[in-house]
Amino acid sequence: MSQMGQPAPKGDLVRAAVLGLLGTRGPSSRAEIARSLGVSPATVTQTTKELLARELITELDSVPSQGGRPARLLGLVRTAGGAIGAKVTADHVALVSVDLDGTVRASSAVPFDPARPAALDALCEILHEAVAAHEGHLLGVGVGLPGAVDSQASGIVDAPTLGWDRAPVGQRLRDALLVPVLVDNDVNTLAAAESVYGIGREHSSYLVVTIGLGIGCGIVSHGSVSRGAHGGAGEIGHIPVSEDGPLCGCGNSGCLEAHIGAHGLIVAGRTAGVLGASDGIAQLAAAAHAGDQRARHVYAEAGRLLGRGLAGVVHVIDPELVLLMGEGMTEWAFWQAGFEESFRRHLMPARRGISYITESWAESQWAVGAACLVLASSFDANTPGAQGALVRARLQDAASAGAS
Ligand SMILES: [Zn+2]
Repeated sequence: MSQMGQPAPKGDLVRAAVLGLLGTRGPSSRAEIARSLGVSPATVTQTTKELLARELITELDSVPSQGGRPARLLGLVRTAGGAIGAKVTADHVALVSVDLDGTVRASSAVPFDPARPAALDALCEILHEAVAAHEGHLLGVGVGLPGAVDSQASGIVDAPTLGWDRAPVGQRLRDALLVPVLVDNDVNTLAAAESVYGIGREHSSYLVVTIGLGIGCGIVSHGSVSRGAHGGAGEIGHIPVSEDGPLCGCGNSGCLEAHIGAHGLIVAGRTAGVLGASDGIAQLAAAAHAGDQRARHVYAEAGRLLGRGLAGVVHVIDPELVLLMGEGMTEWAFWQAGFEESFRRHLMPARRGISYITESWAESQWAVGAACLVLASSFDANTPGAQGALVRARLQDAASAGAS
């Protein structure tokens, strides 16, 4: 979020920019804020005075400054606003309630059947209860789903794994909940979370790759998530890798995900004689951890295919680095046995040194990512669409709402 070379923000935008800086970078001194935003110290003094009076920010410890008296650090009042995040899956909705700095206050999971004719009514009902139970000032609701979403603001969803085609999720939820609602592809929500609280603080162009039931990718380019023409960018799970390969959930055959998503691994595990007819991915993982070489070979082969596919994506997108996460990360050591060599070998020599990093995984991260759609838009005046503007307005109103 360096403002070098950009015009200095004015008025409301300065308030949003100060909140955004403190939200994404953590506690900062007034001098650091002025430097980062490219505004005058007098403007920062005036703006922070208003934000202090509205109890959106607070004074923290002092830190030594160059020469003069110690500088006071300013930080967000993390309870000044909160968000609800929901991850919709084929059998449940995972929910979290978070504070302004991303701290998780509560989490739960509610059974959900997306194939029911009244599935959207049921989703409205689940989120209505979550909104009613939320304590404090709610900035909005973020929803992540395994599918293509045309835009965060309109929230029209195509999700084959949920059986949804042009489902008007955003509009239905907004009508039912009467708060801002942002909807996005679930992997893109993880990328949004990284952009505010993770590697986005250090890097502006990177891939967020998920390994688990499916294989997904969020593409962050120059600080924003690339969505493509229909919200379908980053579907690396459907890169074709074989002519007559296994059937994929998308209806085609031979997709990367059909080979190395959880179902593909289970089939490979059965073929290798590790798994019986009723065994699943948990048994394959257990066998690999117990030292079964056949199970480890299944993961290494999957790693090989992933490495080859990702090398192609790196050539197209040219990211600074690749971040790997998802349910499958607990078995990453076995994937890596095949991934490392294959990834490097298929990269052009000039790109061969690119770093990839792995992140440990907690199941609640999907829903936290969804909540970060709201938190990211509360900090970023560039988030397009009316919903982002509504979230920012609600944050500015937070103090008066909290006092009433
Ligand atoms: Zn496919």
